[in-house]
Amino acid sequence: MLARAEIRTMWDLLLTLPRRYEDRRKFFSWAEMTAAAGTNESVLGRAVIERYVPKMMGPRGRRWLEALVRFEDPSTPRMVFTWFHDPGQMTEKRFPAGSSVIFRGKVQDYRGTLQIVHPELQNAEAELPWWEFGGWVPVYSEVSGLSTRVLRKIVAGALERDEVKRIPEALPTSLLARKGLPTFAQSLREVHFPKTWEPEAREARPSGPFFRRIAFEELFMMSLALHMRRAASRAAQAKELHRLAKIETPPGAFDGWLKALPFQLTGDQSRTVREVYEDLALQNGPVAMHRLVQGDVGSGKTVIAFLAALAAVDAGYQVVMMAPTEILADQHFTNFCRLFPEYAGRAALLKGSLTGANKKRVRADLAEGRVRFAIGTQALLTDTTGFENLGLVIVDEQHRFGVEQRLAIARHAGRWIPHLLVMTATPIPRSLALTYYGDLAMSVVKEKPPGRTPIQTHVVRQKQMPALKKRLQAFLAEGRQIYIVYPLVEESEELDLKDVKNAFAEWTIEFSGTKVDWLHGRMKSAEKDDVMRRFKTGETRVLVSTTVIEVGVDVPNASVIVIEHAERFGLSQLHQLRGRVGRGSTESFCVLVGPNNPGPGVGERLRALESTDDGFRIAELDLELRGPGEFLGRRQSGSLGFRVADLIRDASLMEDAREEARRILAADPTLAAKENEPLRRLVTHWWRGRMELTLSG
Ligand code: ADP
Ligand code: MG
Repeated sequence: MLARAEIRTMWDLLLTLPRRYEDRRKFFSWAEMTAAAGTNESVLGRAVIERYVPKMMGPRGRRWLEALVRFEDPSTPRMVFTWFHDPGQMTEKRFPAGSSVIFRGKVQDYRGTLQIVHPELQNAEAELPWWEFGGWVPVYSEVSGLSTRVLRKIVAGALERDEVKRIPEALPTSLLARKGLPTFAQSLREVHFPKTWEPEAREARPSGPFFRRIAFEELFMMSLALHMRRAASRAAQAKELHRLAKIETPPGAFDGWLKALPFQLTGDQSRTVREVYEDLALQNGPVAMHRLVQGDVGSGKTVIAFLAALAAVDAGYQVVMMAPTEILADQHFTNFCRLFPEYAGRAALLKGSLTGANKKRVRADLAEGRVRFAIGTQALLTDTTGFENLGLVIVDEQHRFGVEQRLAIARHAGRWIPHLLVMTATPIPRSLALTYYGDLAMSVVKEKPPGRTPIQTHVVRQKQMPALKKRLQAFLAEGRQIYIVYPLVEESEELDLKDVKNAFAEWTIEFSGTKVDWLHGRMKSAEKDDVMRRFKTGETRVLVSTTVIEVGVDVPNASVIVIEHAERFGLSQLHQLRGRVGRGSTESFCVLVGPNNPGPGVGERLRALESTDDGFRIAELDLELRGPGEFLGRRQSGSLGFRVADLIRDASLMEDAREEARRILAADPTLAAKENEPLRRLVTHWWRGRMELTLSG
């Protein structure tokens, strides 16, 4: 049963922490019990069962059992225990009339008599185990088939074992002293069975100094590991200086590229380009760039990528830029050639839909160095494209930064250790970024290019559909184009796809006389491209779609997006989807269609999008409301690796832990000092489980 709850080792058991506590320090007096009647608070008392009274409602009606209960103080009134089902009269057999019992339960006042339904009973004459009475006792989350009472006993047994009492301390004494932290062994005992502190009995989630101590250790170990890995990677690259591409950009060339742009860079764009150029020129140390650019939809990340690519191409290196879809790759290629025609001859588009012969030709051009800048889909890198001189890899619109790409790139290493620039329109909350991408440098593009009209967002209910349809008709009459999006988390969900198909049929009837089309992930990519192209040229006016159209596709005339079943999406995803509109000069609209009777919090969650268009703020909200899965994918979030630390609640503790880790490593980079020996051993151990998920190794 423990294994089913993922409790396999002593460690697992000890770190199965209580959800809350019960105050069992003393028995309730009669007065206290009366006061607790009707509240949700459980009482703990001691009494004698005087006699049992079988009850029945009418002839052959429902049966139940009551017991009259007397207190030690004979002046208090009697109380009643009630059992509505008691097969085989088990209670009466275990606690015959006259038994002295300890009871626990919620008291009700039933017509002037105190009553407890299904009390927890314990023989008062037997010796009372310390883990059940005489202090605060832990309440654990229900483990399949295992009551909190049994778990409590098992944990208490574990805490009494010698090896547990003597659990070695991992944190250096100097750190404990500096932060005023208790030892780990004491903290373990105190979080399970509080002795020196008082938990808040009603707190939804336990905290307190000993919880913080254990959380701190987790965050601290993680920070140490991240810092050390980063240092190791730097050291490894320092040994391979000859494989580091030092890319310097002459100011004259840079000015020329800027002049070719039809706009001026925003402050954030300029700063980010500067940061990228510093990385490329190895000004931040002898390591290849490893930079994540976070910027809301439409913040202008593409041009940053282009300027990085130009720097590398100009210095004689090859560059690849990967987009998640062909449509987007196409768009980048076209834009690049238009903006920088003198480089167009050295650029190429590599995508799945090219004919075999064409693919072969582009590959040969890359291998022999005739093409210097290749733009394409992810497949470009994952299959066997060879390069003459690859120096920079750009990954665009990466929503979830799996390690896969990083690994693919590492495998690809040719003559150079390529610089890496990753761009995302899903901002990652800072706490997550520190945890998972502590080894990536980060640039944030917050400022939007000037002249944008904010997108107007409205949350409506399903039943308002008729009114919405009228409004959409009016929008069409104004010449606007419309996206209608349905959620499909997995493109393989048959049922949902059928729903989209039905919806497509309905919308076709609704907008008869208007060209309506549909798009989904099961289509062949050539088919998808056709659909998208027809929408881009304006031939199609309404596009019913799953979430396959990537954010970043420019259709300026599409200024209305309707998102059905909006409650099924994360806020960040909704925010991304709405970024499909707002790309032209007219005011754009986003309509989120929610359920008629939204569950608690659903309405507010969606309405958050009405009031803010700050992707960073939205990401924080998402993390709070839906957890890290939204950002890391389901698989990864399950293995965040923390047992106690909580990325939201403990955000400030995290900063603290990072600071301390940095301080220790500054004095002792390899943890060679005697005092740091346990740390060194644990850090290695700590990584093992997380390695393949988080790191490029
Ligand atoms: P994203 O960050 O979503 O990738 P894009 O790079 O696609 O955004 O840019 C969105 C639009 O904004 C493009 O049409 C681009 O030409 C334009 N743009 C980018 N930077 C600026 C700027 N500094 N001033 C005006 N328009 C800009
Ligand atoms: Mg983009």
